[in-house]
Amino acid sequence: MSQFERGSLVIAGGPIFTSDPDRPRATALGIRSGLVLYVGDDVDEARDAAGPGAEEIDLAGRLATPGLIDAHTHPILYGGMLANIDLQTGVTGLEDILERVRQRAAETPAGEWVTGWGYYLPMIAEGRPPTRQELDAVAPDHPVYLRQRSGHEGVTNSLGLKLAGITRDTPDPEGGLIVRDADGEPTGLLIEQAQDMLKRASEPDVTPESIAADLRRATASFLSFGITSVGEANVTSTDMFRAYQELRTDDSTPAPRYNLMLSHWKMLEPAEQFGLMTGFGDRWLRVGPMKFFIDGTEGQRTAKVSEPFADDPDNTGMWMLAPEEFRARIVRAHVAGWQCATHAIGDAAIELTLAAYVEAQRAQPRPDIRHRIEHASLLRPDLLGRLASERVIPVPGARFASNDYPVLLAAFGKERLRWYQPWNSLYERGIPVCVSSDAPVQSPNPLPNLRAIITSLTEFGEEIVMSPEERLPLDEVLIAYTRNGAYASHEEQVKGMLRPGMLGDVTVFDRDLFSVAPEDLDKCAVDATVIDGVVVHRREG
Ligand SMILES: [Zn+2]
Repeated sequence: MSQFERGSLVIAGGPIFTSDPDRPRATALGIRSGLVLYVGDDVDEARDAAGPGAEEIDLAGRLATPGLIDAHTHPILYGGMLANIDLQTGVTGLEDILERVRQRAAETPAGEWVTGWGYYLPMIAEGRPPTRQELDAVAPDHPVYLRQRSGHEGVTNSLGLKLAGITRDTPDPEGGLIVRDADGEPTGLLIEQAQDMLKRASEPDVTPESIAADLRRATASFLSFGITSVGEANVTSTDMFRAYQELRTDDSTPAPRYNLMLSHWKMLEPAEQFGLMTGFGDRWLRVGPMKFFIDGTEGQRTAKVSEPFADDPDNTGMWMLAPEEFRARIVRAHVAGWQCATHAIGDAAIELTLAAYVEAQRAQPRPDIRHRIEHASLLRPDLLGRLASERVIPVPGARFASNDYPVLLAAFGKERLRWYQPWNSLYERGIPVCVSSDAPVQSPNPLPNLRAIITSLTEFGEEIVMSPEERLPLDEVLIAYTRNGAYASHEEQVKGMLRPGMLGDVTVFDRDLFSVAPEDLDKCAVDATVIDGVVVHRREG
């Protein structure tokens, strides 16, 4: 198997949703040497187009769509998470977490780190993470570091604190909090940047090899979920950048197409120096936007909001970068030829980002620049029109609302929560909204993502308060997952639709999703993943 191989393939015998407005539906597809040559309803014509010797997939009633595009993820973090103890699946209380730590510690040489990922308070009956003392009891000889699924907080044990050099006398770092008990002793819970010392201690062996291994683990996982194109949302080091290039030149490992966002902190100056800009690369690996962060998250109440949080009346969140400096750096990146992508969750953060993009266009008008707002969560109604008029692309996290509902309700209250990710309002204004998992924050599995956007139900089946009219039907979510994702990386001429001349990227589901009750979508699966006409993943059985 070669990632440079171009396959010839016939797909027929079931519904094909093309994302092509000129021909939304078909039942036969012919791909030759990696390119779609036929889309229609005549299987013989599809076979002629694919040529002799082409492989054939009989859909037998299952749905095929253009290859899915997960527009914003963190593949290397996600791959690292896959090597951690899973603290999400099947966790209902502290005992589940502690038992998994105990087991992993038993398999790990004393003194080596035991790390876990993905705990989430609403899923823990006790409503809190484990304490340092509880972790000490199950792993007395191992430093432990368990991270909450957004990555914005983590908890450690006594040995972990010791190795990180955190004591009662350690001051809180800028942008972070060392949580302490009544006696002033660290409890083991570390918020935001306070995790940095622990990260440095627990990840001493982040090497080019470990990064490459993490990327490969994530790569295989994306393919297993039918994801054929992936946005990497934050390349922060040369080792990360190199890992993608090495994967690109590895002839033996199939991979999705990667679109890299480069961290402005590390990359803006060097990029200016040698003239790198958005668009460099090819159909497999492409330099995407320059990435900025302007605020934090709802869970930590660090998203920047125009009115204080409902449960924290003196707090309007936190700028991650001084607004003046942010605006200046956006203008610089824009002038240097970059598409910009800014993490902005709170309405004040979105407003500032829009203003910075307008300022950049004023400094140097660039047609069709397609700046993006990553997450764009709390979209005040007046900001919707500005997104449309400035032609800015929002990239919401598909399951932020459904999985974080209790947190969001506490942070924003019912009224304001109506502004949260208004999918249909975006769609109706013609704004090319994308779908993203933000993996490892959520799994890249597309089925629960589709369910969340289509039903407005939480992962526990609870109705969420956002207006039911903001639900999107399946065909529109699929367009967001394919055509709009391609548009967001300036690649709508080559992918995101099944139309003659387009790349032969296809996702095959295990049934016709259009005939499944929306609340059952998460019970479906991806059967096969096709890139360039080559089947790069087939579900077992
Ligand atoms: Zn992200």
